[in-house]
Amino acid sequence: MDLTTLSILIADDDNGDRMQLKRVLKKSGLPCEISEASDIKEALVICQDKPLDISIIDYQMPGQNGLEGIKALHALFPSMSIIMVTGQGDEIIASEAIKQGASDYIPKGNIDAQAIRRVIENALEKKKLLQKIEEQQTDLKNFAKVLVHDLKAPIRSLNSLVNFLKEDIQEGNQENILEGCQHITKTTRHLSALIDTLRDYTEADKQVEFETVSINTVLQTILEILNVDIKEKKAQITFDPCPEVTGNTPLLTQLLQHLVANGIKYCEKDTPTLHVSADKEGDAWKFTVKDNGIGIPKKDLKKIFAPFTRLHGSDQYSGTGLGLATCKKIVEKHGGKIWCESKENEGSTFFFTLPKE
Ligand code: ADP
Repeated sequence: MDLTTLSILIADDDNGDRMQLKRVLKKSGLPCEISEASDIKEALVICQDKPLDISIIDYQMPGQNGLEGIKALHALFPSMSIIMVTGQGDEIIASEAIKQGASDYIPKGNIDAQAIRRVIENALEKKKLLQKIEEQQTDLKNFAKVLVHDLKAPIRSLNSLVNFLKEDIQEGNQENILEGCQHITKTTRHLSALIDTLRDYTEADKQVEFETVSINTVLQTILEILNVDIKEKKAQITFDPCPEVTGNTPLLTQLLQHLVANGIKYCEKDTPTLHVSADKEGDAWKFTVKDNGIGIPKKDLKKIFAPFTRLHGSDQYSGTGLGLATCKKIVEKHGGKIWCESKENEGSTFFFTLPKE
């Protein structure tokens, strides 16, 4: 059985109706593996035995009301799409069925290959959308949880720094006052950076205009933006001639700027060395940003793209943990993928793809 084959259950007490549905399903051209049940009890047993994509249930079956059957199946197998077969003109029942968890309904008299294909495709599309919404809700919940924690930490720290400062002022301890003020400046800078990156992260979701973007020009801009960091760390940044792509200039600048800035930041060598290049890979361009920095442990290579994930404390390297999560959003918005390969103490290579069209 290949992965796209759908496992479909037909639950109907009428042998003739089951045969007709089977024939129509075969004619629809949808690759499917069909199981049959003559009542809800049997349907429940089959569903328990193997995961099913779709069940097509007749509303009128002996022993159990079709709506109760749908409710029971949906409660036990929420990821299975349920299509109810109703009598002609049973719109009220159909809307009840949808309330109980059915994805769609099809009147018995209207069943033909085209109609069944349409109703199944709609049910699968609906399932995909619901899964996406669920994933986004989980993401949002996690995001809000970490956000509250990460914003609260510097605010709490500012609060205690101000209290210490009050004591130092009362005692007239000039040295401590100066040190306290420096800590406060550092913490407010961190808070401000956190808010800026948070804005970048959420803005990466916005609708933007796509145009032809010269990555060579983007890289030149980045060298200017990062000029101070490059000089301070004596970094050497080189790049091969890069192509033009279709995308959004500010977002692609943000993406490459972040990867290059990280390459400079997470490096303890005397000369941080970075190289940016691009190669054709099928219908896409594959970009590579290679550094000679501290590297990333293998077990963390996927984790670093999640929001607020930091492998080091702020006392070691400044940051917010939102940069790579923003990069991921930007790349995905452009229809590409991003990943990283790395060797600890030798360096990391970040790859991302952008479709040629
Ligand atoms: P930030 O730099 O603000 O902490 P990022 O999302 O950019 O957040 O990166 C997440 C984590 O991944 C960083 O805290 C760091 O531990 C690690 N990291 C990112 N880029 C590199 C790199 N080029 N070399 C080594 N570690 C890196």
